[in-house]
Order: sequence, then structure tokens, then C-alpha cells
Amino acid sequence: MQNLIDGFRRFRESYFAENRTLFSTLARDGQAPKVLLIGCSDSRVDPSLIFGVQPGELFVLRNVANLVPPYSPDQGHHGTSAAVEFAVRNIEVEQIIVLGHSGCGGVKALIEEQGAEGSDFIRGWMAIARTARDRSLALTLSAGQPPEAARRMCEQETVALSLANLMTFPWILERVQTGRLSLHGWWYNLETAELMRLDPTTNNFQPV
Ligand SMILES: [Zn+2]
Repeated sequence: MQNLIDGFRRFRESYFAENRTLFSTLARDGQAPKVLLIGCSDSRVDPSLIFGVQPGELFVLRNVANLVPPYSPDQGHHGTSAAVEFAVRNIEVEQIIVLGHSGCGGVKALIEEQGAEGSDFIRGWMAIARTARDRSLALTLSAGQPPEAARRMCEQETVALSLANLMTFPWILERVQTGRLSLHGWWYNLETAELMRLDPTTNNFQPV
């Protein structure tokens, strides 16, 4: 833990000191990020580092496998949906990016059906992506491709699935239809630092 305390001291003495005006403005006026980024909790996929953004620029929501559940307003504890609601209805972000990534442990567990046995929450959470899993396995198996291909396809399919689930939230659908909000699907290869974007017309991921 000492490395975190040392890191905080360095941050306060350098970055914070050099950007005092920015931090004062943010503290005084509040945040007004234009983008909600939904990414994976994976420690190797840090949105601020990858995209080089300043504090206040990106509203970030991270969870296991960058999933968004379907709109389901009830008394359950919907952490992801609550963060989406805050970003869209209170902050009025103009873009939502769902960022998938290579080597996703959540997707691996889903494909292999391992690692989540006896879990209290992971299995149920990953069930959101069940259709993406089945589709990826069916398509890659029928093409005679190895299991790694199914994992990669599923990582990208979960991005498309999260985008589709976002559209089940009525206040997102309404904003997209009136042009106040746009949704984007990205996938990041953490080994090669390659970024790909979902092309909604072809439903394929293309290099950015
Ligand atoms: Zn992941």
C-alpha cells in the first residue's frame, strides 16, 4: 500500500500543483463531462491512461466485462444502471462509449464456464452476456476456429450487447432518437495497443 501513498504524494506535488486552476474550477463549478465510458474493471484497461484525459473529461463506469443489463426498474441494487442514469439524466452526457478489451477474464469465464462456480454474484452478472456467448461459440465452431476466436468474438459481442441493452432504457432511446446522445462500441487490444470501433452499418469492428 505504501506505493499508493507515495504515488499520491507525487500526484499532489506535481500534477495537482501544476493544474491548480483546473482543480479549482472543477471544485467550484462541478463536473460536466460529455462522455460516459463503460469499461471493464480489469486493472490493465485504465481509460484515463489510454485516452489521455484530464479530470472532469470522462464519466467512467467500470464493472466485470463492461456489461450493461437490460432496463429493469425495480427495488434491486442496480449499480450499473444507476451510474448510467446519473450520467444521462443528470449530467446529460452526449456520448456513451462501451469499451471491451482483449484477454477479458469475465468473458473467459463465460466461454469456458469456469471460474464462476460457486460464486455469489459473478455467474448471475455474466448471464447478461449469455446470448453473446452462445452466438460466438456457434459461429466460431461452425467455422472450425479455435476457442481463442470464440473468446475474442465474445469480447466484441458483449460490447454490441451492452449497446443494445442501453437502447432499452427509455430516456436513452429518446435522446438517441432526437440526436442528443450517440452510442459507440470500442474494443481495445491491451497487448498491441490497438483500438477498434464497431461499425453499426456492417456490425464489424474496424481499426480506429
Ligand atoms: Zn475484462
